[in-house]
Amino acid sequence: MSVLVAGSTALDSIKTPYREKPRLLGGSASHAAVAASLFAPVRLVGIVGDDFPRRYLSLYRRHGIDLAGLQRARGQTFHWSGEYELNMNNRRTLKTELGVLAGFTPRLPVGYPQTPFVLLANNAPALQLQVLDQMRRPRFVVADTMDLWLNTARKELLELLRRVDALVLNDSEARQLAGADNVIAAAQKLHRLGPRFIIIKKGEHGALLSYPGGLFLAPAFPLATVVDPTGAGDSFAGGLVGYLAAQKGPIVRHLKRAMIYGSVVASFCCEGFGLSRTTQVTRADVERRVKQLAEVSRW
Ligand code: AMP
Repeated sequence: MSVLVAGSTALDSIKTPYREKPRLLGGSASHAAVAASLFAPVRLVGIVGDDFPRRYLSLYRRHGIDLAGLQRARGQTFHWSGEYELNMNNRRTLKTELGVLAGFTPRLPVGYPQTPFVLLANNAPALQLQVLDQMRRPRFVVADTMDLWLNTARKELLELLRRVDALVLNDSEARQLAGADNVIAAAQKLHRLGPRFIIIKKGEHGALLSYPGGLFLAPAFPLATVVDPTGAGDSFAGGLVGYLAAQKGPIVRHLKRAMIYGSVVASFCCEGFGLSRTTQVTRADVERRVKQLAEVSRW
């Protein structure tokens, strides 16, 4: 089954302690769409400006990503730049230039509203709501978010949460949104905002799924070298939803495995700048790492 991925389509300028790379293909939707395309057909909803390189459009197409929902407007593509500290976990946003994203109104082309799986990748909650408003009875809706929206668009975010099946966010965001210091307590409180499934990402320490029946802990794939973690969270969410869309039967039966696939795809993302590594990965590479992850976490 297909996955609709809506979010930011960006040019990212990334600085690590070792290297600097300007204007790479980035954005929450780009990372999530390429990750999901490892498992299922993907439809992309976003906007780019007239500075968006054609080679990046070709890259999406090589991954079989349907671009009928990608609007092209006059002006600059959304540009984000960030800098990592030596530990590669702490990141500082240097610049956020909205460009054409500032005037974006998502309009879904014919056929898109019927897509069964929806990933509302990180973007302004008002835009995420506009996409959701156009969907016709989707089977499973996952929303990702970031700290910025907890501070600037809390009302819209809370409205969105009442309407999604799963929320993905990182541990500090979960604590902030729930108003709880403990992550497990935070997950329990977040269910009361709407989502049946709460997924809390903890970077190199893996991710936690809280569901009506209990908890599941997915380890992160152990990496000795992290080149650039930008987009790891989006790749996790894309891998998770893509994997679910490719399974038969009840979604809940596959969620734990989907967490593992999400972790594995995120690990590939961290091994290269921007999308450079994720775009080289094959399904066989993914399966190999899933097996390795099972070996290192079985006891
Ligand atoms: P992650 O590393 O998973 O947090 O995702 C990083 C991606 O999020 C980058 O590719 C950015 O282009 C994108 N991003 C950063 N800030 C924003 C924002 N305010 N709205 C939408 N996307 C953003």
